[in-house]
Amino acid sequence: MSETRHNWTKQEILDVYNKPLMDLLYEAATIHREYHDPNTVQVSTLLSIKTGGCPEDCGYCPQAARYHTDIEGNDLMSVQQVKAQALRAKSSGSSRVCMGAAWRNVKDGPEFDNVLEMVRTINKLDMEVCCTLGMITENQAQRLAEAGLYAYNHNLDTSEDYYKDVISTRAFKDRLDTIDNVRKSNVTVCSGGIIGMGEKVEDRAGMLVALSTLDPQPESVPINALVAVEGTPMEEIEPVPIWDMIRMVATTRIIMPQTQVRLSAGRTDMSREGQAMCFFAGANSIFAGDKLLTTPNPDVNEDMAMFKLLGLNPQKPFTKVSQPKTVEAKDSKFSSLGEKPKWTRPEHKIERNEAAKVKAKLAE
Ligand code: SF4
Repeated sequence: MSETRHNWTKQEILDVYNKPLMDLLYEAATIHREYHDPNTVQVSTLLSIKTGGCPEDCGYCPQAARYHTDIEGNDLMSVQQVKAQALRAKSSGSSRVCMGAAWRNVKDGPEFDNVLEMVRTINKLDMEVCCTLGMITENQAQRLAEAGLYAYNHNLDTSEDYYKDVISTRAFKDRLDTIDNVRKSNVTVCSGGIIGMGEKVEDRAGMLVALSTLDPQPESVPINALVAVEGTPMEEIEPVPIWDMIRMVATTRIIMPQTQVRLSAGRTDMSREGQAMCFFAGANSIFAGDKLLTTPNPDVNEDMAMFKLLGLNPQKPFTKVSQPKTVEAKDSKFSSLGEKPKWTRPEHKIERNEAAKVKAKLAE
């Protein structure tokens, strides 16, 4: 088996990314077959349990309160609503439910207690549970782990250099600190990024340096293509070419051989042929369902038809890591600390974010 390295340099990653395409695909597919069943793809369902009204200024995100987009916000869903959606996802072939809340960071209190109950409920349905709730402390990660959380998603989004052109309300280091907090628990790490935000290829490589030098590497790395939403600072950016997605997936597979590489946002703009090349290049997970938080995604029937066409099978839950045990709230070893952590607020100005904010004010 090829070794898993944690010392990739940016130049080495660029050399991989820029190989002649056929060489890149061959190498990625070969490594993929060493570590994974090439005909199995993990299917996750992403559920927006709290939508919109986010105080952050991520330039790609329609959920940021400061921009004027036409998404419908909602308060935190109930445990029963989440359970019903999880059962629906399970019956349509998903092995994992990812719950996303548009928060800057998790705050101890009744809402977080409800999220913990959601985690317990889904784990008891024998599905993998993932959460993406913003920045979390070590104690919060432990409480999620105790509830039965399988994975925590916290994307690096892009390179450290380009991060300053995308988000001004938190720093790249905050992302790494949250990942570190998750790593101190038994929860697996899901962290990736978005391409097509106007970054250079060097930034894509920079992000992969940051992810691949983590030890252990994230168990899951989502590769998203920007879905430019009207009203966001990135509304006018053209979709990233499929070839860039294929190269990014293949490079991720080569430098993080054991990781589950997730073909995430942007699939509605990809042909089946394009997606098939991504699977060949090492992608082995998708998100199912007609919405990815707030942006469009292929319908689950369409995906199952694609699986049939390509001879792919959905991965069974807990194939890679065994199912965590759920500890009930009354038996918890970790109490709510009511912490008020000081996450960074760099608050530098990003021209296009400021312009979108002004435009939103004018539209009010
Ligand atoms: S990506 Fe997350 S943190 Fe950023 S604005 Fe959207 S919901 Fe908020």
